[in-house]
Amino acid sequence: MSATDHCQACGACCAHFRVSFYWGESDAHPGGSVPQHLTIPITPYHSAMRGTERAPARCVALDGHIGRRVGCTIYPLRSTTCREFEMGTPECDKARAAHGLAPLDAGVPA
Ligand code: SF4
Ligand code: SF4
Repeated sequence: MSATDHCQACGACCAHFRVSFYWGESDAHPGGSVPQHLTIPITPYHSAMRGTERAPARCVALDGHIGRRVGCTIYPLRSTTCREFEMGTPECDKARAAHGLAPLDAGVPA
């Protein structure tokens, strides 16, 4: 199973953490990509994906069922925060545990 397969059968990190990023990453700003209507301002300089600013969190762009089959509906447009989140890290394990999912081996091939 590849790293992509693992994430497509998980989605826990998209429904656990507050997913925040520099507000300039929204498509309301030059060079930005994240659809602004899916974001919410949380500080003067940062926005979050809607749905992740509260608890329990779930990003509005996440489709499907956690731990079964999921997809990001804005995948090509997602923020750097989403792009840089790594599978097999303690943070990944933390999100998975919150959804009752076992940790993954860090050595799973990409
Ligand atoms: S919690 Fe880990 S395995 Fe699950 S989608 Fe996020 S990065 Fe992938
Ligand atoms: S934008 Fe996509 S990758 Fe980022 S938290 Fe939402 S569903 Fe997950």
